[in-house]
Amino acid sequence: MQKERISDDIYVFTSELYAQVTAGAVVGADGAALIDTLPFPSETRQIKEFVEKRLGSRVRYLINTHYHSDHTNGNCFFPEAEVIGHWQAREKLDTIGREALAKARPQMPELAEVEVRLPTLLVDQGPLFLHLGRKTLQLFHTPGHSSDSLSVLLREDKILFAGDMMMPLPHIVDGDIDDEIRSLNLISPLNLENVVQGHGEIVLRGEIDDAVRANLKYLDSLRKKIEALVKKKRPREEARAIEIESCGKNRIALNGAVVQLHAGNCLALYDRLAAA
Ligand SMILES: [Zn+2]
Repeated sequence: MQKERISDDIYVFTSELYAQVTAGAVVGADGAALIDTLPFPSETRQIKEFVEKRLGSRVRYLINTHYHSDHTNGNCFFPEAEVIGHWQAREKLDTIGREALAKARPQMPELAEVEVRLPTLLVDQGPLFLHLGRKTLQLFHTPGHSSDSLSVLLREDKILFAGDMMMPLPHIVDGDIDDEIRSLNLISPLNLENVVQGHGEIVLRGEIDDAVRANLKYLDSLRKKIEALVKKKRPREEARAIEIESCGKNRIALNGAVVQLHAGNCLALYDRLAAA
């Protein structure tokens, strides 16, 4: 796991075990809030040790940006923290999440100790504000990657933890392309110092607008290509064969994992447009 301090009392942790997934910590005088927890207990424990032992804080709040296991597996390691998420994250973790964990466990012994722990403080449409020391955390609904996706804005520092709404490649297989476009369009007007993506490198001030534009361009180009196939009643395999470069993205981000994400996007969008 890599650890980076990006501002006073704000830390980002990046997994070295799975797809550069990120987690964050906001550490105030009266306790800490975590934003996601990384998928594997060995790395979650490093976050816990760092916040509790090294910084001498205690985790009071744990925010789930969405229900996917690479972001929520660590919930159970903070039994005293209040878990916060979108109400749909609670529902999905309780059903799809439980099933996925039961399926993954036999193949991954490192997940033996992971238990599903559900959010108890729930967000719906409007924002939820959390005050921690001198920091204000603003949680708001940013669907697209999934219907339950939340982002967390650290208002004083102008840092956005965007969850998987912002990634080196947008991923809409479990979500919706129009929601994702709407959510991405919320980023630039916030005039941010940093965007912490759900996976991959932190996006710095001067790069944010370009990164958002590139993601919007990708989605636009993907949609046009798939629409053309569906209109001509071309077979599904042709959607899978659309090269990532032809949609304006390269295949090296996230150590190549974006190629899989892109293939998933192509098929999911094909299925939705063909059904419509
Ligand atoms: Zn993820």
